[in-house]
Amino acid sequence: MPKKSGVKTIGELKRFGYEPVSIRAEMRRNLISMIQNKKELFPGIIGYDDTVIPQIANAIISGQDIIFLGERGQAKSRIMRLMVNLLDEKIPVIKGCEINDNPFAPMCRQCRDKVAAQGDAVEIAWLSRQDRYGEKLATPDIVMTDLIGDIDPIKVAEGRYLSDELTIHYGLIPRTNRGIFCINELPDLTDRIQVGLFNLMEEKDIQIRGYRVRLPLDIILFASANPEDYTSRGRIITPLKDRYGSQIRTHYPKTIEDEIRIMKMEHRQFPNDGPDTYVPRYMAEIIAEVTHLARKSININQSSGVSLRVSIANYETLLSNAVRRAVILGERLAVPRISDLPYIHASTIGKIELENFDSVKESRVIDGLIRQAVLNIFNRYYQPNKLKEIVADFNGGLTVEVSDEMTARLYLQNTARISGMADAVKEINSPENPEAFASAVEFILEGLHLNKRLNKTEIESKMVYLR
Ligand SMILES: [Zn+2]
Repeated sequence: MPKKSGVKTIGELKRFGYEPVSIRAEMRRNLISMIQNKKELFPGIIGYDDTVIPQIANAIISGQDIIFLGERGQAKSRIMRLMVNLLDEKIPVIKGCEINDNPFAPMCRQCRDKVAAQGDAVEIAWLSRQDRYGEKLATPDIVMTDLIGDIDPIKVAEGRYLSDELTIHYGLIPRTNRGIFCINELPDLTDRIQVGLFNLMEEKDIQIRGYRVRLPLDIILFASANPEDYTSRGRIITPLKDRYGSQIRTHYPKTIEDEIRIMKMEHRQFPNDGPDTYVPRYMAEIIAEVTHLARKSININQSSGVSLRVSIANYETLLSNAVRRAVILGERLAVPRISDLPYIHASTIGKIELENFDSVKESRVIDGLIRQAVLNIFNRYYQPNKLKEIVADFNGGLTVEVSDEMTARLYLQNTARISGMADAVKEINSPENPEAFASAVEFILEGLHLNKRLNKTEIESKMVYLR
C-alpha cells in the first residue's frame, strides 16, 4: 500500500482509493495473510499451538465473537490483548469523533452534520491499532453508563429530541467502535447490562431509560469467564450465550517443559546489577512440579485453579533468595538450592484457595507439595540404590549441615570427599563451580532423605543430614 500518513481529508482519502472494511473482514484478511507468511499468530503464548490457537483462528476466519473459558492464569486476557496484532496498523476516522466514525459512513449526528456542511474537506485522523482496543473487568457495580452509554440530561434540557444521538453520552463499548472490546469475567455483569450488551451485539441498538437508539457499531467482542461461573444456571442470560460464535476452553501447560519455558520468559528481569545467576535445570523443574502437583491436589480448590503466576512468582522468589545469599556472602554466582524452597510459601500462599480454609493447614499443604515435587524430580534423575556409597559414609557416623546462609566453599569442604558425591554431582551440575556444587549436594541429600535413605533434623536453623 502507498503511504497514507499524508492523507488528511475525506476528499484525499477518496482519491487515494481507500475502501473501508468491517473489523471482522480486516482481522480475517490479516490472519490469513499471517498464516500464509508463516508468522506466529500469538507470540509468547506457549502450549496452545495444537489446542487453543487453531480454534481462535477458525473463529476469526468465521468472523465470530469469542468467549474464553478457563481457570485463573491461563493467559486469557493476554490472548485477547494480542488480538490487536490482527488489526491494520492504522485506519482513518473522522477527526474528533467520539466513536471513531468511518469517514465514508459516519453514524453520529455531529459527524453527519460536519460532512453535510464541509463535504470532502472534512478532516480525518489516523487511528493506530493500539487505540482500537478496549477492555473492562466485569463487576456487579458496572452500570449502563459505563459500558454502553447514557442520555445526557443537560442536552435533553436544551430541548433536543431524545431519539437524536446528540443526547447520548457514549460508554466504553461505542467508544471502541471499529475496534476490539473485551470483557473479563463476563458472568459478573448484572442481567440488565447483559441484556444491554446483547441488544448492542444483535439488534444494533441501545435502549436507555426507555428510549431506543439505533447504533450499528462495528465491533468484535471477546470475553472471558471461569467455566464454573459460566455454566452455573442464571449467571449468563441465554441469548447472550448464544450470541458468542465460539466458546474456547483454555488450559494450563500440559508439560513441565512448557511450564518452565513460561517461567523463564515471564519472570521479572532486571539489568545485571548483582551477582550472575544460574538456575540448575532440576530447580526449575521442582518449581514447575510444585504447581503441577497443586493443580491435582485435593486440598486445593480446583475450580478457581492454580495460576501460571504461581510458577512465575515462585521462580522469582527462588532466584531472589539465591541472589540475596550471594550478596551477603560475597559469592560471585547465585545458584538456588533446596534450602531456598521454604521461601516460596510467600509467593504461593495468596494464589491458591484451600478447600477448607485454615492458615496452619495452608502452610502444611505447601510443604507437602514441595517435598513431593523434590522427590518426583529427584527420582527422574537418580536411582537411590545407585547412591549406596554416599549413604555408606553416613552409616559410618558422618553428618552434613546445610543452610541457605552457608557458603558454597563450606559445602565443598564438608562434602567433596564423601564417596561417590563428586560423581553424583557431575551427573547434574558442573562440580568445578562451588555454588553449583553446593546446590547439587543439597538436591542429592534431600532426595536420599525423601527416599528414606537418610534422616534429617533441624539444629539451630540449620538442617542436618544423618543416619
Ligand atoms: Zn462521529
